[in-house]
Amino acid sequence: MSSAVSGVVNGGISFWYADDGLPTPREPLAGDASADVVIVGGGYTGLWTAYYLKKTAPFLRITVLEQKFCGYGASGRNGGWLYNGIAGRDRYAKLHGHEAAVRLQKAMNETVAEVVRVTEEAGIDADVHAGGVLEVAYTPAQLARLKAFHEHELSYGEKDRELYGARETGERIRIADTVGSTWTPHGARLHPVKLVKGLAAAVEALGVTIHEKTPVTEIRPKHAVTPYGTVRAPYILRCTEGFTASLKGQKRTWLPMNSSMIATEPLTDEQWAEIGWEGRETLGDMAHAYMYAQRTADGRIALGGRGIPYRFGSRTDNDGRTQPATIEALHEILVRFFPQLAGLKVTHAWSGVLGVPRDWCATVTLDRSTGLGWAGGYVGSGVATTNLAARTLRDLVQQDSGQSGATELTGLPWVNHRVRKWEPEPLRWLGVHGMYATYRTADRRELTTHSAQSSKLAQIADRVAGRH
Ligand SMILES: Cc1cc2nc3c(=O)[nH]c(=O)nc-3n(C[C@H](O)[C@H](O)[C@H](O)COP(=O)(O)OP(=O)(O)OC[C@H]3O[C@@H](n4cnc5c(N)ncnc54)[C@H](O)[C@@H]3O)c2cc1C
Repeated sequence: MSSAVSGVVNGGISFWYADDGLPTPREPLAGDASADVVIVGGGYTGLWTAYYLKKTAPFLRITVLEQKFCGYGASGRNGGWLYNGIAGRDRYAKLHGHEAAVRLQKAMNETVAEVVRVTEEAGIDADVHAGGVLEVAYTPAQLARLKAFHEHELSYGEKDRELYGARETGERIRIADTVGSTWTPHGARLHPVKLVKGLAAAVEALGVTIHEKTPVTEIRPKHAVTPYGTVRAPYILRCTEGFTASLKGQKRTWLPMNSSMIATEPLTDEQWAEIGWEGRETLGDMAHAYMYAQRTADGRIALGGRGIPYRFGSRTDNDGRTQPATIEALHEILVRFFPQLAGLKVTHAWSGVLGVPRDWCATVTLDRSTGLGWAGGYVGSGVATTNLAARTLRDLVQQDSGQSGATELTGLPWVNHRVRKWEPEPLRWLGVHGMYATYRTADRRELTTHSAQSSKLAQIADRVAGRH
């Protein structure tokens, strides 16, 4: 293990809990109960849904059931990229037409602004900095993909996106060998845990009941079953994302994909002066196995990537621990980007799970015949998407209960989308590991050959995995 990563705090849910420690959980469910709406899962999806439902219909009795504590999942572990990407948009364009996908994209652009607006309105200080999203290329093949990606995004109506060459990129941030970048204003950096904690407090203040340390073992129409009792309600909304496989009957619904992160010690003012990054854009690249990073409010770099992509049998991690090899690999990416930071200490490492549907398309659904609803399958882009999902779930419940009619949101193409389940093991494990091994080989080839052609390997992996 290199000296930069020795002594790293691995796990503890995530670095985002390092300052304040883990929260003291709220009281668990104390026996059978009833509500108008039960929300299973206290991450962004569940909490935003509770927030918007209660704001719109204050008379509703809403209960959130959370297995550990709010923010235990990806919402307390992510990279803090609040941005306008949504998993599956291109497939939705194929299924429902380009115009429908443009509406979806427009809704996502507005969602970034909506999250910023509500955090301000609700007094949630989540270190939000609206600097947009910068994605860089450092090989000829990445540059070709970057330009194609840029054009593709413009075709979805993103008129304010910009394309930069090497010099303009370097004026923003000094990354080794960068040949170009694309920037969109529809993004902001935030502190994930400050957001999730603030949201939980906000919904509680509105009168929503939250029970923590309360795992739901089974969801059936009008019933959420826990070891401490059953909560009955006309609507049961499943907001369990990467943990969905642990629910009865959901083993192969969404694959729990790992993402891992590291955080460095704070950089000195001199180091920041050398690097730039004054706009605090969230930062990504065009590698097949891509990285994502942010400049934190306390002057560190938090950087993530795939690591070991998936655990056999849809298992999840142990409170955020990641593999030492993954820490080394993420550190290598950091040094590849900023060679002058080779000696900078990595202080924290962690991982979490995100939910991946078989067709890689996020969805929000309410089954009107059973009152069961769910939202998720965001793959790696849920910080903003969860908010759009929540407002949509609110509208679907309102519509179903006769409180309102169809809305712009209920007409978006990701609503009520169904997809087949994942294959049984060992096929799931073999497929996902094969895909990421292939991505990494493709990235290495592109680095060494300097070809402007994207590696065919990555395209094959995409097709096998059902991504395109
Ligand atoms: C390391 C990492 C980095 C990421 N970075 C980004 C990023 O920068 N930008 C971005 O847009 N997205 C990112 N994501 C994805 C994003 O964080 C998620 O899409 C989003 O947080 C999902 O929110 P959620 O509420 O649906 O799920 P979660 O936050 O996972 O919440 C689900 C909750 O349900 C609870 N739960 C599960 N099962 C049960 C049960 N049976 N009973 C009761 N409770 C249950 C869990 O404990 C958990 O609290 C990242 C994800 C990870 C893991």
